[in-house]
Amino acid sequence: MSNELLKQEIERAMDNAPLQRALKNFTTAYPGNRANVYKGYDFEALREKVHEVKSYARDHIDELLDEFEKNATANGAHVFRAHTPQEAFDYALKLAKENNVKLVVKSKSMASEEMHFNQGFEAAGIHAQETDLGEFINAIAGDSPSHMVMPAIHYSKEDVAGLFSSYTKAPEAPIITEEVKTSRRVMRPKFFQAEMGVSGANAAVAETGTVITMTNEGNGRMVGTMPNMHLYIFGIEKFVAKMSDIRYIFKVLPRNGTAQNITTYLSFYTGATNVVTDPENDTKEPKQFNIIILDTPERRQIMQDPDYQDIFCCIRCAACLNVCPAFRLVGGHVYGGSIYTGGIGTLLTSFLNSRERGKDIQNICLQCGTCNTVCGGKLDVAGMILKLRTKYAQEDGLNPIHKFCLDTVSDRHLFHSMLRIASVAQGTLAQGTLTQGQPMLRHMPMFLSGLTAGRSLPTVAPQPFRDVLPAIKQDVPNPKGKIAIFAGCLLDFVYVDIATAVVKALNMAGYIVEMPLDQSCCGAPATYMGDVENAKKAAEMNINAMDAEHYDFIVSACPTCTHALRDYKDMFKDDPDMYKKATELGAKSYDFSKLLSMLGGLPDNADGVPMKVTYHDSCHLKRYMGVFEEQRELLEQTSGVEITEMNNCDKCCGFGGSYSVKFPEMSAPILEEKIDNIVATGADVVAVDCPGCLLQIKGGLDARGLNNIQVKHTAQILVEKREK
Ligand code: SF4
Ligand code: SF4
Repeated sequence: MSNELLKQEIERAMDNAPLQRALKNFTTAYPGNRANVYKGYDFEALREKVHEVKSYARDHIDELLDEFEKNATANGAHVFRAHTPQEAFDYALKLAKENNVKLVVKSKSMASEEMHFNQGFEAAGIHAQETDLGEFINAIAGDSPSHMVMPAIHYSKEDVAGLFSSYTKAPEAPIITEEVKTSRRVMRPKFFQAEMGVSGANAAVAETGTVITMTNEGNGRMVGTMPNMHLYIFGIEKFVAKMSDIRYIFKVLPRNGTAQNITTYLSFYTGATNVVTDPENDTKEPKQFNIIILDTPERRQIMQDPDYQDIFCCIRCAACLNVCPAFRLVGGHVYGGSIYTGGIGTLLTSFLNSRERGKDIQNICLQCGTCNTVCGGKLDVAGMILKLRTKYAQEDGLNPIHKFCLDTVSDRHLFHSMLRIASVAQGTLAQGTLTQGQPMLRHMPMFLSGLTAGRSLPTVAPQPFRDVLPAIKQDVPNPKGKIAIFAGCLLDFVYVDIATAVVKALNMAGYIVEMPLDQSCCGAPATYMGDVENAKKAAEMNINAMDAEHYDFIVSACPTCTHALRDYKDMFKDDPDMYKKATELGAKSYDFSKLLSMLGGLPDNADGVPMKVTYHDSCHLKRYMGVFEEQRELLEQTSGVEITEMNNCDKCCGFGGSYSVKFPEMSAPILEEKIDNIVATGADVVAVDCPGCLLQIKGGLDARGLNNIQVKHTAQILVEKREK
C-alpha cells in the first residue's frame, strides 16, 4: 500500500461521522471509567504480575505446551498443534467434514481470523455464523472488526437498524435493546442447529489443560455448550503455567478493556463432557472437544527476538487502542484491521499478517507513549514500534526526501548556514502582524502548504542564541557552579527568548551558563524516523561538543533533546571510550524544570500580579522522564501564578516532531482538541516545557485568532514574573 493510499484511508475514516462520534464518545469516557474501576487496586503491581506470569510462560513455552496437551488429552480433548494458519484451517475443515457439519457457530477468535476461517468454510459449503453481536453486525455488513474488543464500534444504532432490516427483511427500530433482541431471535435457533461451535481463548492453563473465555454476551457459553462438537482455536501466546496465574489477567483485562470489574461470563473448559443426546431416555454421548494451537514460525520468531519478545505478554485488553490519539482519530480499519489494530496491532500485523501493511501503519504512531502507561502486560509498545520503524528503514532504506532532510540536519555547518539564510529569506512569507511579539508564517506555498495546516509557524530568529549568549550579562556573585546549555535547533535558531530565560533563571539560582558551540541537532528527528546512522552521527558530535566532565550539569529546555542526551550511551555499547563519555553526559543532563527544582527553585520575589496559567505536559517530559510535578511546583511558588488544569493536560498536542509535517491531517484535529481544552480553562497563559509543543499550540491558537492566550515556556514565566 502506498503512502497515498494510506492517506486516502485516513481521510475516509476521518470523514466517517458515525465512526468519529463513536470513537470520540468512547475514548472520552474511557479514562475516567477506567480510573474508577481501578480504585482500591494497585495497577502497577497487577500489571507487573501479568508481565511476570506471561514472561514465564514465554520462556517455558515448550514445557507448557507438552503439559497442557497431556492434561487436556487426559480429560478427553484432542489437541492439534498447527504450524501455519493453513494447517490449522485444513485440520478444522477436516474435522467439520468428518462430522458432517453444515453449520458452525462461532464466538470471537482472532486466531481463526488469521486463517480466514469464515471465508474458507463458506467456500467449502459450510456456513460459519458469527454470534458475537459486534462480529454478527460486521458479518452482515461484509465488514471487518475495527476494535479488538468492540469490533463494531464504528456502527451507529441507526446503521445497525438498517443492516438488521436488510438481513431479517423486517423493519428494525434504531433502539439498541430492540437490536439485541433481534440478534438473539436470529441467533437462538442457530445454536440449536449448529453441529460445531468454535471459540477463541483469553487464556490457556498448562497445569490443568483448561481453556478460558471471558465474554459479555451469553453467546460464548452457548457456542461452547450447545453443539455436539466444540473447537477452540488460539495461539501459543495465550498460555500461562498455573491456574493461579490467571487471577492477575482477569483483574486487568476487563478493567483495561471496557472499564468493567469483571466480564459477565467467565467460562472454563477442562476437557470433554458428556452431552444429553436423547432427553427422554437420558442418553448421553461424549462431546467432541478439539483444540487447535497455532504455533507458527512467526510467533516463535517474536518470542525469540529480545527486541519484540514482550509482545507475548500482551493480554489483548485493547487499552493501548483506547488511549491512542492516532487510533482515536482513524479507528481500526486504517491499521489494516481485519484482525489486530492500534499500537499492538501495528506490531502483530507486521509479524503475523503483512509486513508491508505493518511498514505503512507504523508511520501513524506519534511516539507519544500513552499506550505504555496503560498497557496491561507492561509492554513498551511505543518503543517496539520505534524499533520496527528502524528495522524497516534499515531493511528497505528511507524515503529519499526524508533521507535528504536528515542528512542536511546532521551536517551542522550546512544546516546552521541554511537556517541563517532562512532567517533572511523568510521575510517575504512572514505576515505583517506580530503574534506575541513574533512574526508568524500563516501560509506556506505549494507542496509546503501542509506545514501550516491548522496552525501558523514561527519564523527563524534574526540572530541565533549562540550569537546572543555572549551579550547576556551573567551577574552571579559567588557562583555555585557551571552549567552547559544544550539549546537544540528550536532554542538556538527560533526561540532565542526561551534559551535566554533559561540562562537568567539558572543565574538566579546561582549558576553560570555556557554554550559549547560545536553542538548540533540532538539527533531525535533521525531516531524517530529510523535513521540510525544520522542519529549516531549527531550523538557523537554532541558527546564530544558538550564536554560533560567540565560542567556540573547539562541543561536543555526541550524534553526531546534531554531524552536524546540521556540515551546516547545506548548507541555506544561497543565503544568503551564513547560509552563512558556518553554515560557522563546522560547522567548530568536534565530538563530545565527538573534541574531548577533539584537546585532548590527560585526565591519568591515575583511581582504577584495575577496570571491564570494552564499547563500542557509534553509526552517526553511526563511519560518518558516522569517529570510533571516539578514544573507545577515552580510555577505555584511564583507569586501571582494560579494554575488551572485543563482537561487531558497530558494528552499529545499532535506535534510529534516530523509527524505534524508527515500527517498534518491527523496532527491538526489533535491540536484542535488541545486548543478547545485550553480555551475551556479561561487561562491567560499556557505554560509548556517543550518548544515543539509551544510551536504547535501557539501556531494553533494563532490560526484560530486566539492571540489573547499566550504560550510560554516555564522558564519564561519564572523569569518574567521576577524581572518586572
Ligand atoms: S505511542 Fe502514542 S500514537 Fe503510538 S501507539 Fe502508543 S499511544 Fe498510539
Ligand atoms: S499491548 Fe498492552 S494495552 Fe495493548 S492489548 Fe496488549 S496488553 Fe493490552
